[in-house]
Amino acid sequence: MWLRKSFCILFLFTLLSRSNAQDSIYNEGWSNTNLFPFMGQTISSTDSFEICLKFDTARAFCKPHNGPIMSKFGPRRGRLHKGLDITLNIGDSIFSIYEGRVRYAQYNTGGYGNLIVIRHSNGMESYYAHLDKILVQPNQDVQAGEFIGRGGRTAIRNSPAHLHFEVRFQDHPINPEELYDWETGRVLNDTVCLTAYSLRYPAVGSGIYGQSPNSGSRSNSSKVYTVRNGDTLSAIARRYGTSVNTLCRLNGIRPESILRIGQKIRLP
Ligand SMILES: [Zn+2]
Repeated sequence: MWLRKSFCILFLFTLLSRSNAQDSIYNEGWSNTNLFPFMGQTISSTDSFEICLKFDTARAFCKPHNGPIMSKFGPRRGRLHKGLDITLNIGDSIFSIYEGRVRYAQYNTGGYGNLIVIRHSNGMESYYAHLDKILVQPNQDVQAGEFIGRGGRTAIRNSPAHLHFEVRFQDHPINPEELYDWETGRVLNDTVCLTAYSLRYPAVGSGIYGQSPNSGSRSNSSKVYTVRNGDTLSAIARRYGTSVNTLCRLNGIRPESILRIGQKIRLP
């Protein structure tokens, strides 16, 4: 009797601790509108995260789309391509790589086009971009291999249709080919230990994509100033409590650029 009771307690404890861990994964940095909710938090050199990559058959890794890689993760024309580009035909099915919960599902103006972001039970997030159709809702639970959308070419200017696929942990992009054999769809290791080195790529900036935080609340609330007669960049910067450099970066202009009357200047 005593034994049975302690088993029950142990079982309950296991269930509770498992659900607590899951709760924090789906709570910490959870936003349906802010694409990078960890806000550039740096990973300290002593931090390490043991991430499970291999699950039982029902929850096993599933490729998001079975097609050849068109472009790999890494430097591209002086910028960082933060994902894999996988060739597809518009309308092809896209699948969730693991079970998880949809964190973000909307059109993104930062270069992703129609984008789905799924947070997985191991803390990783997967990004599926340029979709033609989004078939899931924010906060919806999905299974490994679940059909979540259709591939497309939204926000693609010159290249043919493809899936831009990213894997991130606390916003930091990771090369998917360091985790999976893309040919066979096999997991390279049962677990991976993520450290400051594996998470060295910044979440935002320097690349394709991630240069614009999101298309949600932030860009909608960003202010625009219309240049009037006699305005200078430094006067505008002073008036809005910012710097000339910040204005130049936001607007892709140089400090010595001549402003036109009626020109729109984005403000931070
Ligand atoms: Zn891409």
